[in-house]
Amino acid sequence: MSRSVLPVNHIRLLVHQVATVGLDLLFPPHCVNCERVGSFLCRHCLATLEPHRPRSLPAFDAVRVRANFTGALSAAIHAFKYDRQTRLAEPLGMLLVEGLADSFWPVDLVTAVPLHAARQQERGYNQAALLGQVLAQDQGWAFDEAAILRTRETPSQVHLNAQERRVNVADAFTARPEVVRGKSVLLVDDVLTTGATMSECARALRAAGAGQVWGVTVAGAAGSGPDMQNM
Ligand SMILES: [Zn+2]
Repeated sequence: MSRSVLPVNHIRLLVHQVATVGLDLLFPPHCVNCERVGSFLCRHCLATLEPHRPRSLPAFDAVRVRANFTGALSAAIHAFKYDRQTRLAEPLGMLLVEGLADSFWPVDLVTAVPLHAARQQERGYNQAALLGQVLAQDQGWAFDEAAILRTRETPSQVHLNAQERRVNVADAFTARPEVVRGKSVLLVDDVLTTGATMSECARALRAAGAGQVWGVTVAGAAGSGPDMQNM
């Protein structure tokens, strides 16, 4: 046994462990909403989640939404998307797992709504894909971020109504037949508003031969729904 190599490796491991523990001591995780120390989204804030009413969207077999896009959840998703708090992918992704409780959907493949190329470059990550990865890993499902592609860039939808959103995203996506054909596909996004983008992605999946298309989001806008969808 070499007496010179092992101690060096041990020292490296020890240094790494001390550094990790030190970082956690210096910067302990705290709740993005209430700043309690111990986790990135604490159990007190999770206990305030409001159930979202049932939703159905065109081109989906079924859709689940974990909670209303308000309060602590709104704060957490905002930090996740706009403040580079990617460690929130874990607690938010586990909300997708909760949202699918008792769904028994026969999922072959998980994918995510693709982000605008410019926005993904600016942000450095697709938040929906990070959530989809957490969900797929927890459930032991396959995950493919690139099952759906944007065929054109679309203007921001923030100030558009439901009808304008549908027009805005029409034919903006295509799905890869070699990835989705004959499969039961679960589409993930962070927030459901009118559902125009989700439904357009579902249509692309069906056009590429997906057998079943399911949808799940962490949050749903409390004020939008079937009435707005039909505007
Ligand atoms: Zn909290």
